[in-house]
Amino acid sequence: MYIKDYFKKDKSIISFEIFPPKKDAPVEGVLEASKLMADMKPSYMSITYGAGGTSRDNTVSLSSYVQNELGITALSHLTCVGTKKEELPRMLRELKDNNVTNILALRGDFPEGGENMPLHYKHASNLIEEIKKTGDFCVGGACYPEGHLESDNVYIDMENLKYKVDAGVDFLVSQLFFDNSVFFNFLYRAAAKGINVPIDAGIMPVTSKKQIKRMCALSGSALTPKYKSILDKYYDKPESLEKAGIAYATDQIIDLIANGVSGIHLYTMNKPEIAGAIMKNLEGII
Ligand code: FAD
Repeated sequence: MYIKDYFKKDKSIISFEIFPPKKDAPVEGVLEASKLMADMKPSYMSITYGAGGTSRDNTVSLSSYVQNELGITALSHLTCVGTKKEELPRMLRELKDNNVTNILALRGDFPEGGENMPLHYKHASNLIEEIKKTGDFCVGGACYPEGHLESDNVYIDMENLKYKVDAGVDFLVSQLFFDNSVFFNFLYRAAAKGINVPIDAGIMPVTSKKQIKRMCALSGSALTPKYKSILDKYYDKPESLEKAGIAYATDQIIDLIANGVSGIHLYTMNKPEIAGAIMKNLEGII
């Protein structure tokens, strides 16, 4: 099923992001975690693509596993970084042969030291346009409620986001954020720009201080004072911090849904116990 069609239903959409093992790393743990998460019946599961295209084979095989063995709609990530023009038709055919018809098309993170590498597709919008030409895929793109790190400001970033929509993107998935008002503000600006495709809100239940610092640095997402207090209070109590992280994410999700957001994308970090705790909290609410 195409993911864009889930948004036409009168029901909240909860999806999970998982990442494949690195090249040549054992796959069993990820398969087990994916199965446990599939049992929670998310609308779809997205499968990331390692920086620089390093996990390509594992991304495709995990996407196929999710789609065909676990019976959950798979959203396979694909990046400009690591994709050559002449290879794209084969890559798309491989996905189609595996019944994977939803792609999240991204520029991608550069591998360390490769920031200036030449790209066959410079921006995600170029890749989106190319994939849409085949007519075979529902294509998603990324968006950034606080602006992309490389953009001078949120207005320029919004101009650039419009290119993805003009290229035919079917839906968007947001970068993680901790302050819902930032997301609501982003939705107003997107609507004013004529961006009317469905937008999934990206939520990351943070469960360790080290993880949160890394994620904020990578994504450019700002911590809220409320979240900072939680980190300060429970910095040496990992179990309490995990519970507080789950409670914070649940609170964010309920507020988003109550205010009309229909899609929530959980960055699970391959932790079924965290995704499960949130889903349990949402029972009877979504
Ligand atoms: P683009 O849309 O190309 O944007 C990159 C920058 O260029 C932005 O600053 C944008 O404003 C600017 N820009 C865009 N178009 C133009 C234009 N026409 N002219 C001038 N400037 C322009 N990375 C991975 O490597 N693998 C993954 O699996 C992965 N999954 C992700 C999932 C989600 C939901 C999100 C939010 C991010 C993900 N990323 C992933 C990270 C992503 O690849 C990086 O954030 C990357 O730096 C930008 O990707 P993009 O697709 O938004 O790029």
